[in-house]
Amino acid sequence: MNCQFRVRFALLVACATIAVPATAQPADVSAGQSAVQRAADTLSKMTLDEKLQLVFGYFATEWQGTKPPSAGRYGSAGYVPGIPRLGITPQWETDAGIGVATQGGAAQKRLRTALPSGIATAATWNPEIAFKGGQMIGSEARNSGFNVMLAGGVDLARDPRNGRNFEYGGEDPLLAGTIVGSEIAGIQSNRIISTVKHYALNDLETGRKGHDAIIDHGAARMSDLLAFQFAIERGQPGSVMCSYNKVNGDFACQNAWLLNDVLKGDFGFPGYVMSDWGAVPSTEKAALNGLDQQSGWPFDKEPYFREPLKAAVLAGRVPQARLDDMARRVLHALYATGANDSPVSDNSNAIDYAANEAVSQADAEQSIVLLKNDGNLFPLGPNVRRIVVIGGHADKGVLAGSGSSLVYPRGGNAVPGLEPSGWPGPVTYYPSSPVQELRRLAPNASITFVDGTNPAAAAAAARGADVAIVFATQWSSESIDVPMKLDGNQDALIDAVAAANSRTAVVLETNAGVAMPWANRVRAIVEAWYPGTLGGRAIANVLTGRVNPSGHLPVTFYQADAQLPRPVRPGGQSEADVFTINYSEGAAVGYKWMDRQKLKPLFPFGHGLSYTSFAYGPVTASPGANGSVHVRFTLRNTGQRRGMAVGQVYASPSAGGWEAPKRLVGFAKVDLAPGESKSVDVDVDPRLLATFDEPGRAWRIAGGQYRLMLGASAAELRSNTVVNVAPLTLPSNWRPGLAAAAPRPTRGERGE
Ligand code: BGC
Repeated sequence: MNCQFRVRFALLVACATIAVPATAQPADVSAGQSAVQRAADTLSKMTLDEKLQLVFGYFATEWQGTKPPSAGRYGSAGYVPGIPRLGITPQWETDAGIGVATQGGAAQKRLRTALPSGIATAATWNPEIAFKGGQMIGSEARNSGFNVMLAGGVDLARDPRNGRNFEYGGEDPLLAGTIVGSEIAGIQSNRIISTVKHYALNDLETGRKGHDAIIDHGAARMSDLLAFQFAIERGQPGSVMCSYNKVNGDFACQNAWLLNDVLKGDFGFPGYVMSDWGAVPSTEKAALNGLDQQSGWPFDKEPYFREPLKAAVLAGRVPQARLDDMARRVLHALYATGANDSPVSDNSNAIDYAANEAVSQADAEQSIVLLKNDGNLFPLGPNVRRIVVIGGHADKGVLAGSGSSLVYPRGGNAVPGLEPSGWPGPVTYYPSSPVQELRRLAPNASITFVDGTNPAAAAAAARGADVAIVFATQWSSESIDVPMKLDGNQDALIDAVAAANSRTAVVLETNAGVAMPWANRVRAIVEAWYPGTLGGRAIANVLTGRVNPSGHLPVTFYQADAQLPRPVRPGGQSEADVFTINYSEGAAVGYKWMDRQKLKPLFPFGHGLSYTSFAYGPVTASPGANGSVHVRFTLRNTGQRRGMAVGQVYASPSAGGWEAPKRLVGFAKVDLAPGESKSVDVDVDPRLLATFDEPGRAWRIAGGQYRLMLGASAAELRSNTVVNVAPLTLPSNWRPGLAAAAPRPTRGERGE
């Protein structure tokens, strides 16, 4: 069933159901033939060597003295040669989720528009914004000559210290899958391939190349894998990137359960699995267990899918049918997305940066979370005459996350020279200064900046000001994890300023949640994440009230490491560390863990304040088809300003039996004028009411009473209702739109 909203301003309302992609995908039909038919037809004409060519990718940047293929795009992530004889396009691959990145090893960078971080886009709770962001970065990819984008990331935030949380969609499978799937749909609306990654359970960077994530299969299906499933259903990415780590004893890129059984079997994924760069452990095992394309040669030890794969096929150790399947899957993605029929070229002069930066700014403005605002310190009113801004290089720009996803900014790094200046850096600030933007918006106020290196000097400057705003940053990057504690003297700085001025606020630019020992001593706290190309402007617009904040946390903000399932982060300091992570919390990730353990977070999942106020409710619910539940709720703006509310629907079985007391089962973001109310309908996906029974290979909904709770966060439930649900079993491969559950593929069909 399609998303239904009985509201007046459909554009401003987020679609909260997951039954259909956010927006129509490029047609699966070209020249009267479906992608399936075309792939089969082309495959029938291919030689063995041509098939092998499609399943082997090169790194497209010079690396350790190895020159990339000359036909690759300069300084980019990857390249797979085309086959002109058969009209098959080369694959030009670029990172990643916030825009067109350039590899650190390239002397010249592509300067492009950066969205806010992935976790920031998740904080918008707005699939429409995510789609538009994807559409924008996909258009820059196309105009930069790329037809494969290595975005988006949907590994769940199981640990706030995961250094790549900023690239992902938060801790909840429904929210993350919906937002990331929408971004992918937006990217692919440009008739290019997008990728969902890193499949799967690459939930810490420490030891990402050696750690073994141990998790119960059923729990994984209800958590990390469900996030992937939702993202795939909504975005229909051409490709899935398998991750470096092991899962339950086997590397993800040769893991039969992950790739053959779940992804290609139960999810019915028709595209191809590409490896992460240097994540292939073998030839035969990887090929037989579901990997379709080796990426980024020479990152791996061997060119497994080149000469060794040829030898294995010729010797019959890998069936010819399996190689055919690998090539067919790549072809299917090229045809189904339209990438093969719409050639890309370097057309960067055509990029409309002003328009694209506006898309990024709109995303940032909806992503900023007002965590605390005692005495309505914000928005800054006309009476605020003396503002002291401290720290975080707020006079220069806003922080970006780093690693392969780093988008280099037009205008250059606003704060060059910070360490690390090489991998996993460079530490980069986008040249959008919050201080300059505040000065522009409040020309009659005196706004001074103090760099914050000396807490005593900062406190002296803050004393007597109408408001003191400390910018605190947490830099993070691929291949490292980060402590929850802010680094350097930042906690001491905030304490010193707060002691000197009772009207102190903190603006955070962080990877994910950080510890805030000073939270009770400051008036206001704003989470701005890594806010992208025009982040300084977005922050200033929120602080001055030109934009009413509407972001909500897509992750729990914990008080301290002690609240985490693993208070001490496993592993040492290197991405190569070999160790085991036992995800014994199973599907109880984030707020589910906190509920189960009866712990009180610093700020709960879903939390976010506004400059207006909202009433939530009433909420009604009735059973729908296929075990789904139909929920209707009303949101009303009870304050004086226009604003956007996020209605969050949580479900809880009266009889218990889930991994945690409640789950997020639906949400919608609604724009409301003062006094206005709107009703929203959402259909709850039956998998969100079920538990996954691994031995029985089924989703099982227990019959009985379920409470549906409408809230402003996981800890602020304002209205509820009860619905009786009939018991139901759905096959393990159930998914929306599948008329009857398709049988799982046999081993023969998978070429094993
Ligand atoms: C990262 C991927 C990225 C790839 C290509 C890897 O190190 O984990 O996310 O897409 O490099 O740059």
